[in-house]
Amino acid sequence: MPVLSLGRRALAATLAALLAVAPPAGAQLPTLGDSGDVTTSAERKLGESIARELYRDPDYIDDPVLVEYVQSLWQPLLAAARTRGELTSEMDERFAWQVLLGKDRTINAFALPGGWMGLNLGLVSITANRDELASVLAHELSHVTQRHISRLVTRGNQQAPWMLAAMILGAMAATRNPQAGGALMAGGQALAAQQQLNFSRDMEREADRIGFGVAGQAGFQPQGFVTMFEKLQQAARLNDNGNYPYLRTHPMTSERIADMQSRQQLADHKPVQPTAEHALMAGRARVFSNPGVDALRAMVAEADASGFAALPRPRQLGILYAATLAASRLRDPAATRRLLARLDAAAASDTAAQRLARLLAGEIALAEGDAARVLRTVDVESKRRPELLLTAQAQIQTGKAGEAAQRLQTWVATQPRDAAAWQLLSSAYGAQGQSVRAVRADAEARVAQLDYTAALDRFKAAQDLVRKGAGGADYIEASIIDTRARQVESRLREQALER
Ligand SMILES: [Zn+2]
Repeated sequence: MPVLSLGRRALAATLAALLAVAPPAGAQLPTLGDSGDVTTSAERKLGESIARELYRDPDYIDDPVLVEYVQSLWQPLLAAARTRGELTSEMDERFAWQVLLGKDRTINAFALPGGWMGLNLGLVSITANRDELASVLAHELSHVTQRHISRLVTRGNQQAPWMLAAMILGAMAATRNPQAGGALMAGGQALAAQQQLNFSRDMEREADRIGFGVAGQAGFQPQGFVTMFEKLQQAARLNDNGNYPYLRTHPMTSERIADMQSRQQLADHKPVQPTAEHALMAGRARVFSNPGVDALRAMVAEADASGFAALPRPRQLGILYAATLAASRLRDPAATRRLLARLDAAAASDTAAQRLARLLAGEIALAEGDAARVLRTVDVESKRRPELLLTAQAQIQTGKAGEAAQRLQTWVATQPRDAAAWQLLSSAYGAQGQSVRAVRADAEARVAQLDYTAALDRFKAAQDLVRKGAGGADYIEASIIDTRARQVESRLREQALER
């Protein structure tokens, strides 16, 4: 299976867990696969225990701009899978259907149990258009809807769920970094676990076939599948496994290539032109996944390279966007301003690109410590998440925490799983001296990332404050905190039983 990019700390922890999986002699452990198929709720729980680790991974990134873009592809794919009957209402309800982004620059995407999906920014950065990115998401989505994962964890894996979770995390870590695995003398075991957790050739072909149908239904161009496949095939020929861990879990077998060639006959041969929006987002992913100074300098230089003027417009936009962001990361305000002005001018004729350029300008203003400029730059009335979160940060810094709190409160009422919004809401309350509410919002942020232990700790701290009469909490607030504390406590008890 699939890898996320795990950081070294998580790698060590998961490999340690992997080595410690031998059960005590004679122990009777509950297993997932006892009665044939894994139920959707068992799979969901297994997924949660993996996702909980991924949220804590230093590579995990919740970038509102990239998350929103990926969602604009992901949601139509989900809707298409529903329409085609691939995504049943039971799975729809039980599973998370969330895409977690990782900063890693290697090319990878993977489906996890329970409807979680991992996507490396490295993969986003090499896609030429939205259709290519959608083809990968549709393929991974189909592994979940076809219950491939449940079949994998059943097949010869009679372990307790927490052991399976450790195995999957260990295999993911080893896929990412085989050398580190070897150094820990655990590489062999981790890779064996990975082999066991890899999808079969038939499953891969099925995910290709179903994914192709789902992407087409969602309105994506079939050429996206074909050109992405060609890209992967080329990397496989160059034996570029180090940069393409995706190839290790998705070997380019002759059957897959033959299937794709027959689909190619059906597809229009005209290459898909990238939208300006996609070019910008691929550029953003490139900067985030290549944080080294040399890489950033090279991106800045691309905007002044001799061939620039001859490039197609979306390509120019992508380069300008990446160069501007890179210059800002290099803390070069003069170059940043110059490039931003060029980006602005180039984006003027495209609404989506214009908006993304404004957001970037606002983000740069915040990074330069000029919160007032953020509020003059971005659309503060917008109800979209990137604007909301950026505006709230600037408001908190400019004595407008009350306004920020009000808007964030409205947001989390409908988006209770938005950890970043809860975290900002906590800061906004804190800035106004509302400490009970601040601690409670902090607790909710932990719940949103499935860290119930930390959440309970915060809820108890809030209860303490209430008891001391501090923090200005009223009766309603206090009873919400009591209820939430009890709910989280019962979640923790359930988790303990699963072990
Ligand atoms: Zn696959």
